[in-house]
Amino acid sequence: MAKKECFLSLEKAKEIAAEFPTPLHVYDEGGIKANAQRLNAAFSWNKGYKEYFAVKANPNPEILKILKKEGCGADCSSYTELLLADALGFKGDEIMFSSNETADKEFVLARELGAIINLDDITHIEFLKRACRANGFPKKICLRFNPGGDFVINNLIMGSPSTAKYGLTRAQLSEAVKTLKALGVKEFGLHSFLASNTTGNSYYPALAKLMFKTVAELEAEAGVKFVFVNLSGGVGIAYREDQEAPDIREVAKGVQAAYAEVFGKNDSVAVYTELGRFMLAPYGGLLTKVIHFKHIYREYAGVDACAAHLMRPAIYGAYHHITVLGKENEANGTVYDIVGSLCENSDKFAENRPLPALDYGDLLFIHDAGAHGHSMGYNYNGKLRSAEVLMQEDGNLKLIRRAETEKDYFATVADIYPELGKLK
Ligand SMILES: *Cc1c(COP(=O)(O)O)cnc(C)c1O
Repeated sequence: MAKKECFLSLEKAKEIAAEFPTPLHVYDEGGIKANAQRLNAAFSWNKGYKEYFAVKANPNPEILKILKKEGCGADCSSYTELLLADALGFKGDEIMFSSNETADKEFVLARELGAIINLDDITHIEFLKRACRANGFPKKICLRFNPGGDFVINNLIMGSPSTAKYGLTRAQLSEAVKTLKALGVKEFGLHSFLASNTTGNSYYPALAKLMFKTVAELEAEAGVKFVFVNLSGGVGIAYREDQEAPDIREVAKGVQAAYAEVFGKNDSVAVYTELGRFMLAPYGGLLTKVIHFKHIYREYAGVDACAAHLMRPAIYGAYHHITVLGKENEANGTVYDIVGSLCENSDKFAENRPLPALDYGDLLFIHDAGAHGHSMGYNYNGKLRSAEVLMQEDGNLKLIRRAETEKDYFATVADIYPELGKLK
């Protein structure tokens, strides 16, 4: 239950808006680093612990470099993400390939790079055999577990694995382990992702207990060695002021207790995570300017960003807190819909949101856009994706992705339609 603080002052935001026109995504380097360090410290009881940052949450090269320096690996799920991780120097075991509905060429590249391959289905073993003809079948492999049913903690349904497309059933795990052992696999990992954006501290500990037990069973059944358990993503953040953010130290302690309960003094199983939202969401914001007002059945304030820059409110009705920079201490005396310009009525960053009275040119900071923000951007209505700017630890600004131009938008048709290739 904390007031949401903005890492940008009005002065800094004005400086940014003067140099790189709005809308744009801004990230806080110091915040990203400190959070990664807290996470690593919380799990330091486990000697093999590693966070594989979920690249889909924020594939900006600079962000990945910052996290790499903090000891993180990269969790990739597509061919392009693999190329990106490789180009930025993530090597071999530092890449987790957690894909689903995987195309052959993706398995081929993952194997070529020596990434840890996380199999989403038992039938993929055959596909992987084919894809590994050049580089041999991997000696280490991970399996994604879907226990089915509902995932319930303290009588609360956290997720519904039975309706999720991911993973192998418990029975399939036993069969897959036997098959893979016969194919020469020496080291196994278990992965599972059962609930998204969880609040409170109990999700990872409950998941970990289920996974540790499953690992112990599989080892006993098949006489194989599991070298890691990958708890994947799902630890959430407080998007709302009245939500409690998970306390990562408590989360990690809960996992430690589950570990001791199942494995006792055996400390040979590494714990991995693939957090995306937790790593980045609070440390990025969408900076946008108020450009229109409209007084009809509701009060509308129009901004220069739209759902193409931050899609979560439009597709999930997700809440994103908004700070009116420079008016942090004013009363929220007016109720607005904050809207973008898409020809879609869902293009609203906020509905019926009490805010300080707005003026033309006010700069709004839309919070928690650092994960699943710019990365979900798209080009509907001919909208162009925005720039990304890093506020470095010393306060200096660094452009880490330029804004798209019309030329970028037409690039995929320019060779076919010369009249579009001539546009500047
Ligand atoms: C999306 C995803 C993550 C990250 O999830 P967050 O909720 O952002 O932590 C991790 N692993 C896999 C396989 C994913 O698909």
